[in-house]
Amino acid sequence: MKPPVFSYYRPRSLEDALGLLAEHGFDAKVIAGGQSLVPMMNMRLAQPAHLVDLNALSQLTGISRVDDTLSVGALTRHHEVATSVLVRSACPLLADAARTIGHYAIRQRGTLGGSIANADPAAQLPLIARTLNARVEVAAPGVKREIAAADFLLAAMTTTLEPHEIVTAVHFPCARPGERHGFELFSRRTGDFAIAASAVTLVVEVGRIWNLRIGLGGIGDVPITLDDVARDFEGAWADAATITRIGECAAAAADPTGQQGMSAAYRRDLINALTTRALMRASGLAE
Ligand SMILES: Cc1cc2nc3c(=O)[nH]c(=O)nc-3n(C[C@H](O)[C@H](O)[C@H](O)COP(=O)(O)OP(=O)(O)OC[C@H]3O[C@@H](n4cnc5c(N)ncnc54)[C@H](O)[C@@H]3O)c2cc1C
Repeated sequence: MKPPVFSYYRPRSLEDALGLLAEHGFDAKVIAGGQSLVPMMNMRLAQPAHLVDLNALSQLTGISRVDDTLSVGALTRHHEVATSVLVRSACPLLADAARTIGHYAIRQRGTLGGSIANADPAAQLPLIARTLNARVEVAAPGVKREIAAADFLLAAMTTTLEPHEIVTAVHFPCARPGERHGFELFSRRTGDFAIAASAVTLVVEVGRIWNLRIGLGGIGDVPITLDDVARDFEGAWADAATITRIGECAAAAADPTGQQGMSAAYRRDLINALTTRALMRASGLAE
């Protein structure tokens, strides 16, 4: 399959890229890693008349930490996110999740900004951004804004991005001292998109659970967090019985849709199992 004819631009500055988008509006699309857009173009699900390639924009790459914020440039490849020593120390949940995306070749090309802008409900990085309350930095001609991931991700494959805007970076809060995490996903084959995924962070202090966060992906239109369940177990004993109970509550609170030939009940069971496993790992009760 081949894409329809399009004009190709490779701007050298963010301003030029934004200018091209402003000029061509809905007829233009940016391309980053091309791992989602190119298949969509080949299948004619996307037919941009103008393609604006971001790959020459070095200001969109790089990973840095300032105080308690880890900033990752939009063009940063999944492989770099997965293997960066800085990401591993500042935000290990992000590194672990990035490691599970697709296959090696996809991780070498796919970008953080592309994954966030694409907003696939089963994608790992939108889930982590939502779970950690990350902020998405977006540029338009002459202005920059930051949007909380929860507000940025509107529905399946839909965000608040305007056609003339570009995601420039994502800012993640760094893990607090003593914070631990767990990330579990289930897919039919290694490298496939997740059928369901669970991301958790917590602190265990004097045997009790604090600062619990639970994020779920692949269960509906957008990743969600289970803030009420997390609040209910604040200060609970970090033992196997409590964790089993949290897994059950997560499954009851989530409202998964049946899709891809899998019923909602099956997905609920998956959420229970994945969340329990992620919590066991995070609390040090499992390897
Ligand atoms: C076989 C296969 C398996 C995969 N498995 C997984 C998986 O398990 N988990 C997973 O999460 N992903 C998976 N992916 C998708 C992959 O991670 C993509 O890289 C990612 O979803 C999109 O990133 P990209 O840089 O390739 O974006 P592109 O394909 O270049 O663009 C995707 C969309 O985002 C827009 N966009 C890109 N960058 C920006 C930006 N900076 N600002 C504004 N808009 C932008 C584009 O216009 C387009 O609409 C898989 C892909 C393939 C082909």
